[in-house]
Amino acid sequence: MEPLITRRAWLEIDLDRMAQNLAEVRRRLSPGCKVCGVVKADGYGQGAVMMAKRLAREGVDFFAVATLLEGKELRDARITGEILVLSYTDPSLTSELLACDLIQSVSSPEYAAALDEAARAAGGRLKAHIKLDTGMTRTGFDCGTPEELDRVAVACRLPGLKITGTFSHFSSSDDGSEGADEYCLRQLERFTAALDGLASRKISTGIRHICNSGGIQKYPQAHFDMVRCGAILSGYPTACHVGAWPDIRPITSLKTTVTCLREIEPGTCVSYSRTFRAPKRMRVAVLPIGYADGYPRALSSKGRVILHGRWAGQIGRVCMDQMMVDVTGIPDVRLGDTAVILGGDGALFQNADEVAAQAGSCMHELLSRLGPRLQRLYFEGGALVKVL
Ligand SMILES: *Cc1c(COP(=O)(O)O)cnc(C)c1O
Repeated sequence: MEPLITRRAWLEIDLDRMAQNLAEVRRRLSPGCKVCGVVKADGYGQGAVMMAKRLAREGVDFFAVATLLEGKELRDARITGEILVLSYTDPSLTSELLACDLIQSVSSPEYAAALDEAARAAGGRLKAHIKLDTGMTRTGFDCGTPEELDRVAVACRLPGLKITGTFSHFSSSDDGSEGADEYCLRQLERFTAALDGLASRKISTGIRHICNSGGIQKYPQAHFDMVRCGAILSGYPTACHVGAWPDIRPITSLKTTVTCLREIEPGTCVSYSRTFRAPKRMRVAVLPIGYADGYPRALSSKGRVILHGRWAGQIGRVCMDQMMVDVTGIPDVRLGDTAVILGGDGALFQNADEVAAQAGSCMHELLSRLGPRLQRLYFEGGALVKVL
């Protein structure tokens, strides 16, 4: 049966472009350095399964997700590569981790002990990556002193755990703020020192990894055995202030349809709470997308869309399911016309990082909050291959 395409508001996801982005990353890695495809939060809102399947076809055999259920979703879709669960899984669910052959990241002595006990009780050995805190101060073993490293070593020797990797995470690799570089390099030093300390304790650290997208771009010396590619696969070299990765391009467009058009008189109030009052005669188009779809309400009277290759400013409060744009200067706008919210039309384009910045956010948040009502249309070889 032909899939139903409602044309209400939808994402167009170009998987070939994602493969190109992957190739651009790989081109800059040392031989032997693996790519981990980070597809947490449903692949940053773009569909973890479709992305992972294509990445697997491109030879990626390592994935990262945030949660147990995200890992299980990939397994149910017959993704066979390694899957690292980045955040906490309750130890009572260890048998699920084992059943799905997932790698759990382990971030403290207590958590390691609990997982070890649960794994042995389940009669298994749980694959794990040791997470070291080098300055993010979120999760991870402290590893700055010999005593702290001893505690990491104890965790690594637990019989219920099989340590296949050791990793850390940069806090500031994609911001250009004062001191960010020094901070990252300090984290890198701490990571290297901890790896050395573990080696001197005869601990096999397995696959070593610390780079996210920003780190990949900025610190080739930090690539180690694997790099974790999230945003960059979606086309966002997040350390954009360092420039020079122009061949990485966004894979996703967000589009919607004009569903209503009206002329309004000067003084007419538009949308909830009358925050916008027409300063002149205007032509207004209604778009059926709102904050329930992940379009930030913070963009009320600030955002803009592209219609007929021209900018149309959003006016009044963004509603739950709809919003209004000013099409006064744009000739021939008709019911059913397509408006581009992310992506390009003619000479104009806007991407998730720019739109997010306007809303005081980042592309990670904007994409990952794109809601389930938006249909996902996948393209490969120029053809529509799947609608979700
Ligand atoms: C999300 C995440 C990544 C990917 O980050 P990007 O900046 O999107 O590449 C890598 N590592 C960890 C631990 C993460 O949580």
